[in-house]
Amino acid sequence: MKEKSPLKAGHIFGPVPSRRLGRSLGIDLIPAKTCTYDCLYCQVGLTTEKTMQRKSWISVDEIIAELKDKLSLKPDYITLSGSGEPTLYSECGRLIAEIKKITSVSVAVITNGSLLFLPEVRKELLGADLVMPSLDAGDEETFQKINRPVAGITFEKMVQGLIDFRTEYKGKYWLEVFLIAGLNDSDEQIEKISRCIERIQPDKVQLNTVSRPPAEDVKPLTPQRLEQIEKKLNKYAEVIADFKGTVTEDFTAKDDDIIEMLKRRPCSADDIAAGLKISNLEVLKHIEDLVKSGKIIPTTQNNKIYYKAI
Ligand code: SF4
Repeated sequence: MKEKSPLKAGHIFGPVPSRRLGRSLGIDLIPAKTCTYDCLYCQVGLTTEKTMQRKSWISVDEIIAELKDKLSLKPDYITLSGSGEPTLYSECGRLIAEIKKITSVSVAVITNGSLLFLPEVRKELLGADLVMPSLDAGDEETFQKINRPVAGITFEKMVQGLIDFRTEYKGKYWLEVFLIAGLNDSDEQIEKISRCIERIQPDKVQLNTVSRPPAEDVKPLTPQRLEQIEKKLNKYAEVIADFKGTVTEDFTAKDDDIIEMLKRRPCSADDIAAGLKISNLEVLKHIEDLVKSGKIIPTTQNNKIYYKAI
């Protein structure tokens, strides 16, 4: 008998406005916060269940039923991501195949890449249109410092998984490198990361840094240093860090702030985030609660979703 899902009802979130994916409809497959890593920069918080044991916390049928209701929101991507490492979900392959049966919207997987050393995980992701793994270190010591992996995942094993997947996968393969001041931004680390990238051969490398409240006290790179690193990694790299949307860390919006804003005029999630200087993730958490409680309603205009206070 399948375990009762410890996930709260509502496994689909968004669409989340994303610089990389446009409007991304997220599927959260993992209970917070279950992951193979415990990254210093994690925006979900500290890992409470660090594991590499794969499970099915929720049935594929349940997810598909919920997804069908949300397709009218016309997302650019359906994204396997959420509150932990999505490849810990043991039915990723079947889920991707079932999504493909009901929609032509592209499927992306945002993963830390740590389980790609497992042949079954690589096989399950072959049906995705876009896979976006992470690489935040150039050696074992830095990997342990930043990603704090579960026992059994070593740096070389993880990198080899990324290389093996590249040789088997025909879809788009974008590597994200999350840079932290003083930890992985030295010339030596960048040189080592660059050598790993040459071995992995992704289609793109996207450079990110701290802009939303992280799990631990870590610092962002300056835009100038990011640009230098972008030039060093030349042909592959682009900066995706969003400095315009930097969060004011000591500011947290309340539901009332959002309702007050929407009483004046309908706003998109981006408008609210920019207006209240909070992350899109935080806005979406508020929005979901406010829609559920009937205080605001979504409305579509020119293919964009706006929210109005009732
Ligand atoms: S891999 Fe992702 S979810 Fe897991 S700890 Fe790191 S940032 Fe958080």
